[in-house]
Amino acid sequence: MAAPQRLRAALALVTGGGGGIGASVCARLAREGARVAVADRDEAAAAHTARGLPRAEPGQEHEAFGVDVACARSVSQLLAQVQARFSAAPHVCVNCAGITRDEFLLKQTEAAFDEVIAVNLKGTFLVMQAVAQALVQSGALGGSIINLGSIVGKVGNLGQVNYVASKAGVEGLTKTAAKELARYGIRCNVVLPGFIRTPMTDQVPPKVMEKLLALVPMGRLGDPEEVADVCAFLASEESRYITGASVEVTGGLFL
Ligand code: NAP
Repeated sequence: MAAPQRLRAALALVTGGGGGIGASVCARLAREGARVAVADRDEAAAAHTARGLPRAEPGQEHEAFGVDVACARSVSQLLAQVQARFSAAPHVCVNCAGITRDEFLLKQTEAAFDEVIAVNLKGTFLVMQAVAQALVQSGALGGSIINLGSIVGKVGNLGQVNYVASKAGVEGLTKTAAKELARYGIRCNVVLPGFIRTPMTDQVPPKVMEKLLALVPMGRLGDPEEVADVCAFLASEESRYITGASVEVTGGLFL
């Protein structure tokens, strides 16, 4: 089925675009006509995603960038590079970069806690702030920032004390930014996936996955494309009166 062209000529920045949900988001936004800046810590993976994106019309170009979202200097360089390459600030931003370092609370190390907070929470803050600053400075009214939280940020999850804290933080960060940025026409929403088939969930031991799947009323893992479809809606004008919302994409999962 041909995708609608809701994002024709929009410039979209996607972090974590080298794989998993981020790569699917890049593909979906490009199919809707967007020019995509694919950013990832793994620049080769970002380049691989960018090469595979459709270029339906002359001028629909895509580019890969290396970034460490946990580092303010790297994020600020990314925004400068994207603006230089496309002569515009990204009107759409989807923050997919994220990591897990799972361990029970009693064994969690300070380093693993700090690392997950730095990438998932601080990284989302840094990219969101840089994109919002670029949009406001450019004088362009409007924009849509979509952050990837997680359903576990609402309900907790065994062995994920650092990850859950980071994702609960992403939800609060997004709702606050939505209140502050509405006056500039910039919408901010958070998507809360359940268990989605990606390299991140490939790390979950099969026995644990079996137990988790038993909790999903729809009885299966989600596909990255099913998260990407929701991101495309939130990026488009069809969601123009939605900001500060948390959208669950979980197959009904309620932990
Ligand atoms: P993934 O397959 O591991 O992809 C995440 C991407 O982010 C990877 O390409 C990764 O690069 C990149 N990345 C990691 N740290 C980075 C950094 N500091 N700077 C820039 N890029 C970085 O994960 P996913 O499953 O697609 O998850 C995408 C987002 O959805 C994450 O925020 C995740 O927490 C969230 N989420 C996923 C699920 C799920 O079930 N999969 C559920 C709920 C929420 P490397 O490969 O080099 O690390």
